[in-house]
Amino acid sequence: MEAVGAKKAQNRQGMYKVVMEQFEHAADVMGLDAGVRKILSQTNNEIVVHFPVKLDDGTIEVFTGYRVQHNNALGPYKGGLRYHPTVDIDSARALAIWMTWKTSLAGLPYGGGKGGIEIDPKNYSLGELERITRRFTYALGDNIGPDLDIPAPDVNTNAQIMAWIADTFSSTQSPSTRFANLHVVTGKPLGAGGLEGRDRATGYGVVVTLKAWAERRNESLQGKRYIVQGFGNVGYWTSHFMAQEGAILVGVQDAGGTLYNAGGIDPEQLIAHSDANNRSVGGFKGAETIDPATFFALDCDIVVPAALGNQITAKNAAGIKAKVVAEGANGPTDTEGEAILREKGVEIIPDILCNSGGVIGSYIEWLQNKRAEYWKIEEVMKMIHEKISTAFTSVVNTANEFNTDWRTSAYIVALRRLEKTYKERGIFP
Ligand code: GLU
Repeated sequence: MEAVGAKKAQNRQGMYKVVMEQFEHAADVMGLDAGVRKILSQTNNEIVVHFPVKLDDGTIEVFTGYRVQHNNALGPYKGGLRYHPTVDIDSARALAIWMTWKTSLAGLPYGGGKGGIEIDPKNYSLGELERITRRFTYALGDNIGPDLDIPAPDVNTNAQIMAWIADTFSSTQSPSTRFANLHVVTGKPLGAGGLEGRDRATGYGVVVTLKAWAERRNESLQGKRYIVQGFGNVGYWTSHFMAQEGAILVGVQDAGGTLYNAGGIDPEQLIAHSDANNRSVGGFKGAETIDPATFFALDCDIVVPAALGNQITAKNAAGIKAKVVAEGANGPTDTEGEAILREKGVEIIPDILCNSGGVIGSYIEWLQNKRAEYWKIEEVMKMIHEKISTAFTSVVNTANEFNTDWRTSAYIVALRRLEKTYKERGIFP
């Protein structure tokens, strides 16, 4: 038990502290209604499930899964499920709260939820992952649903996992509701009710915000040098769309290695390497392998953290040379790291704006399923572009109105919408 406790402490990320500090600060700046502030300071529901699964070797392992539902004033809870050793109640809470702000800021009819399973999926076979996923879905039972709480992909989860969730959920309900339940999750594969473009939606949105950032400076992304932490779905698709803008990927870091090439790294070659090497960039021949501790201090214009939370901290923020940090990940910058960046004049495109393309894509998939339609990728990308651009403009205008930074103004836009809803609707009974 000692070892398990030590492992947990090491994995703990402390993201809940960060999200609450951000919330308290924004609530002070805008003068948020005291009652609404109390409501939003708490999560509505926290579901923890322990469930057994038979492994390939015949032994039984008991897994722990989480689903935290923070707030549903604006619509059903919405947010991803991650499979990672850092998943615990603290991180599920923090990530659920960020989802409430993100969906509100994007103008979607959703609240915020998040969850996952505390595992490293690399340690399990595909068959085991299927059984773990199906059993987790079964354990969540009626706590999720297309009009109640709609999970989606997040760190280490993908379209295949979403298909297993949709199938398990639908198969355990009445057959008459099978197709009415398809949208219990988003991010599904195309053949299982998925949306063309959902895979690239988050990375695309990151680049839309970076283009808007560059345009405000009367610049473009052409020739800009950038580094990406994490080369999963968000890191790869961001790099793919950055290449289309003529930007140059000079550094990449993931759990398997840290790469640098001043002449540029080809994202398509790198993803092919990662796909063939157990989803790790380590050992890629098209770049030099460098000390992981030097990553954030690499010479570049743009930093895109697209992995886990609390990566830019007091330990490394001072070394950052870039002009802007585009938060593809959720909560990648902690409060101390952020203060140092602001002091240095480094701009931050905050996570709840920067990575909102994913949940906007999810919303389109959910609408598509509800209407039993299939939308064209061009329409999907156009809608994501419009929604993020609108949110970006509100964030910039609100920052001017309150003379504050973009993170705080993004919170203010999100909180104002929630405050208005509570004021108009009142509190039952
Ligand atoms: N996991 C993604 C996020 O953090 C997407 C959530 C969703 O599509 O519901 O925004």
